[in-house]
Amino acid sequence: MLSIQRFTLLIFVVVSVIFYALFTYYFFKQEEEMAAVIMKTLRNNIAETAYTVAKNTKNKESVITSRAALDRIAASNHFIKAILVLDDKDILLNTDPHCGMDALSLGDDEEKIPAKQLLKSKSLEQEIRFYEGKNAVKLTLVYVLEHEEIDAHFINNQIEFALYFGFIPIFIFLLVLWFIHFFVSIPLEKLRQFAYYHSKVPSAFKLKELEVIRYSMVDTFTRLESEKEELYLMARTDSLSGLANRNSLYEFVERLIAVSARNEDEFAFLFLDIDHFKSVNDSLGHNVGDELLKNIASIIKKTLRPNDFIARVGGDEFVLIIPEYKSYFELSNIIERIQAHLARPWVVQTHPIHINSSVGVAFYPKDATDYVSLMKHADIAMYEAKKLGRAQYHFFTEALNKSVQDTITLNKNMRQALHNGEYQLYYQPKVDILSGTIVGVEALLRWISPKKGIISPDVFIPLAEDNGFIVELGEWIVEEALSQCLEWKAKNIDINISINISIKQLQETNFAMNFIAKLEEKNVDPSQIDIEITEYILVDQHNESLNSLNLLHDKGISISLDDFGTGYSSLSYLKRFPIDYLKIDRSFMDDYDSEDGAIFIETIVKMGQTLHLKIIAEGVEKQTQLEYLKNIGCDQYQGYYYSKPLSVSDFEIFYKAMNLSSVS
Ligand code: C2E
Ligand code: MG
Ligand code: MG
Repeated sequence: MLSIQRFTLLIFVVVSVIFYALFTYYFFKQEEEMAAVIMKTLRNNIAETAYTVAKNTKNKESVITSRAALDRIAASNHFIKAILVLDDKDILLNTDPHCGMDALSLGDDEEKIPAKQLLKSKSLEQEIRFYEGKNAVKLTLVYVLEHEEIDAHFINNQIEFALYFGFIPIFIFLLVLWFIHFFVSIPLEKLRQFAYYHSKVPSAFKLKELEVIRYSMVDTFTRLESEKEELYLMARTDSLSGLANRNSLYEFVERLIAVSARNEDEFAFLFLDIDHFKSVNDSLGHNVGDELLKNIASIIKKTLRPNDFIARVGGDEFVLIIPEYKSYFELSNIIERIQAHLARPWVVQTHPIHINSSVGVAFYPKDATDYVSLMKHADIAMYEAKKLGRAQYHFFTEALNKSVQDTITLNKNMRQALHNGEYQLYYQPKVDILSGTIVGVEALLRWISPKKGIISPDVFIPLAEDNGFIVELGEWIVEEALSQCLEWKAKNIDINISINISIKQLQETNFAMNFIAKLEEKNVDPSQIDIEITEYILVDQHNESLNSLNLLHDKGISISLDDFGTGYSSLSYLKRFPIDYLKIDRSFMDDYDSEDGAIFIETIVKMGQTLHLKIIAEGVEKQTQLEYLKNIGCDQYQGYYYSKPLSVSDFEIFYKAMNLSSVS
């Protein structure tokens, strides 16, 4: 197939050849004619001159009298170099003395084509006839032709011809080629690319026809694109609420399942149904019902976070996908927030409406691993919520349901307990291994619930850390421990108190300043206070924790690293943080008599000694453990072997008894 450029080239070459042939023909014809005219003029001229010379000549000698006239003729005609008068082969007269017989071509006049004749002949001849008396005399008049002039005249013409019909067409040809390339080929290629790859829209073209094509192409593509988008949206959007529909939900969940399976993630699939929605439709009409659904959709959408997904899957049924939540407790907060928003009084087309919603929750992969089962299980859970009285949520797994409900109750009760004064600090002695004397106590929190008795901190501290309540609770603990320190000092119980501080507390701005302010307010000696932090603080990226610890340490408060060995501590962290004591986690004490366990404990002790840290062993329950610790050079210990954590009064009795026994 021919390209436009080649096609143009072909046309151009054909047209050029035809024109060139025509012009060449006319050029040579014209040259012929010109040569014929020159020849004719010269012949007329020579005939006339011969007649004039004959008339003025009486005898051969008097030929010389015509010299002036012949000189004039030779000078006035560029094509005549010299004029000679010959008597047979004798020169009687010569207007140019440099011209001899060799310049003549006598009798060499037989060329038929005038141009060739003119270009080839050296001279023209004419007979001069006159009578000398009665004798007829014949002389020959010769025009020696000036070939330089004649050649120049014709060659100039040929150069011009070559120029006009040779170079100029080539130049025009290249120009045309360039124009076609620039204004036609390139735009057409751009159009092709645009049509094929949907590449960027080409900017306006210079040629009208191409511009019209470009414009209509862009127009058509844009329309097709938006129609495609519209179709796509229509196929995936619920027309009433503008939310995603079942198709879209299916696609989203399938994708999320694939990603979650790869990353071993979990997500929550929520099925939300509006309670008694049918009665709104029946009593107020479908258009009010539709309006309400639109409002519900927009409220749920606003309540959710950008990563969450919502779809309307039936009349008053919605599915919500929540991929990120820190705990089931946080998830339950999200659900409660949505339900609370929906339970607000509504006014739709002047009708006040009050609605509630029931939510069923299933988890991927715990409850189901495919779309259909997730939908089914969330639906079952939702019916469970309806059965239990509506306006609530329910998890598909009964055990989870119970544990979330327990957490929620615990969260509420834990806060209430602080107001009710149900918390107490218990104190567990820390003992110097060599001397066997109490050097301090660790304050350990107890929740003494009137209903449930003593609740261990392991049950509620992680939740308090999760929901931030630890900050408020922690303030109470610090306050209480410092007051206890003062009280004991007054009672001559002059010992160090260790307070457990969680990471959330340390991250609070001004934690250290407030702590120091409290110390000063109560006039407690900072060297009597120790702070226990866990290893997780060391890897915390916030500088706040490190700054706080430095401030407290500078004040004279000692720092203990609690539960050592269970976290991620590295030597570099240990060096960066101002740590005085390492507390070997109690889990290691169980293994002290195995080879591996012993290596672990001994390594910690040695490392502590190298870093000039004191080592405290936690969870010492047996004398053999104590003996072992003594042998390896551990500094202090804590554990049931010496004493369980004790209430204030019990500790005071215990302390006095121990003091008495050591004195006696
Ligand atoms: P922890 O700071 O490592 O406290 C030591 C835990 O080991 C205490 O449990 C203590 O009763 C227990 N324990 C001590 N000696 C023995 C023993 O010989 N055998 C056994 N099996 N256990 C022993 P507790 O009091 O239940 O506290 C648990 C955790 O709760 C604490 O671990 C600490 O992380 C946290 N916690 C306790 N009180 C507070 C507090 O006031 N504030 C903060 N932030 N956390 C606290
Ligand atoms: Mg501790
Ligand atoms: Mg510990």
